Amino acid sequence: MKVLKFGGTSVGSVKNMSNVKDIINDGSKKVVVLSAMSGTTNQLVAIAKDIENGEANLAIDKINSLLETYFITIDELLSNVVLNTDVKKYVSSIFELLVDCTDKNFSETLENKILAQGELLSTYMFNSYLKQEGVSSTLLPALSFMRIDAFKEPDSDYIEAQFKTVFDAAENVEIYITQGFICLDVAGDISNLQRGGSDYTATIIGAAIKAEEVQIWTDIDGMHNNDPRYVENTKAISNLSFEEAAELAYFGAKILHPQTVTPVRKDSIPVRLKNTMKPDAHGTLISNSTSGSGIKAIAAKDGITAIKIKSARMLQAHGFLKKVFEIFETYHTSIDMITTSEVAVSLTIDDDKNLDKILVELEKIASIEVDKNQSIVCLVGNSVVNHQDTYKLFRILQDVKIRMISYGGSNNNISLLIDSKDKINTLQKLNDYLFELVTL
Ligand code: ASP
Ligand code: MG
Repeated sequence: MKVLKFGGTSVGSVKNMSNVKDIINDGSKKVVVLSAMSGTTNQLVAIAKDIENGEANLAIDKINSLLETYFITIDELLSNVVLNTDVKKYVSSIFELLVDCTDKNFSETLENKILAQGELLSTYMFNSYLKQEGVSSTLLPALSFMRIDAFKEPDSDYIEAQFKTVFDAAENVEIYITQGFICLDVAGDISNLQRGGSDYTATIIGAAIKAEEVQIWTDIDGMHNNDPRYVENTKAISNLSFEEAAELAYFGAKILHPQTVTPVRKDSIPVRLKNTMKPDAHGTLISNSTSGSGIKAIAAKDGITAIKIKSARMLQAHGFLKKVFEIFETYHTSIDMITTSEVAVSLTIDDDKNLDKILVELEKIASIEVDKNQSIVCLVGNSVVNHQDTYKLFRILQDVKIRMISYGGSNNNISLLIDSKDKINTLQKLNDYLFELVTL
């Protein structure tokens, strides 16, 4: 069985939902994971923010206008009166629940409950639409099998067992629809897999059922060789290894949730990235086969903080790095990049929530410099560190100030740390190199 995930734009309009129906309606059994309709989760985040700020009236205005847009979509989607009435009733109950949230005290649990409604709405509407169109489908409630553990990692044994139970108890249909993104936490409260988490839901389910393939359908022709938001003339990459895809997703390629390939990698379940608007385009196939050599793709991750930790005779002093790492571990902050010299170690973090506390601890053992607003530019390709042309990078980037470089951490990745203000220029220059517009 395959698992197919469709993102917010794919279910964001009646026309796109009809495209999705045509894609999935091929007679084979499949699990379909849906995101919320595009824009909905952002609106729900804004509603939760209003509640946090004690502005219930603003939250209610947003809830009402969102409800209005849903009713318009439902009228366009469902001409069948019985289904139309039933969906409006369900949607109204969700919006009543949202209104009820506005006079509650704000908490993370409340926020998570609000955020979960988008996927509940989209899946209910889409399932009803399939019924209207005569496609056999049913809903598998994600909250009955998707759970994270105390470390916020998917609880894979539980998910595998529960998914099987829920699936076996469901009607025998062609299309099993479930919600992306949402899950329960260890306390049994509603939680989620972080923004963009529907991709992750798809591969978690893919691993649980040992799927033949996981497909992630979005509004772009697969993973591009550079960030199409900032650079012109990017193009889709047809094949990536799991390792290349993992590096790209982690270091900023926005098309995929950073953890997407993790669950399926160990069983070599291929992940195919496809475009709902152009279903015939090849897209990107992520699998365990490696191909090509040299730089295949570039991604950039913003919001990085660099910390330089200087100590006289650092490396001579046994255990110095251990002490440094322990401080980051105490504050649950993971380190992305690291470089060392005899007198200093520089490292980067992307989550600076506990930065102040970390700095207080670090200052006890060393002198510290902090640079904010940095970006990691990550160059990925099969065996890129060994490629004969990789040295050209330094010539191409001769006027970009590089703050840190990580080379050889893996054979497939070179990472550069630069000031975010130089990012677009750097990405464009590297792109020119990729397309061999520049000969050096
Ligand atoms: N709806 C969620 C979000 O917007 C999850 C997803 O779309 O993958 O982040
Ligand atoms: Mg996404």
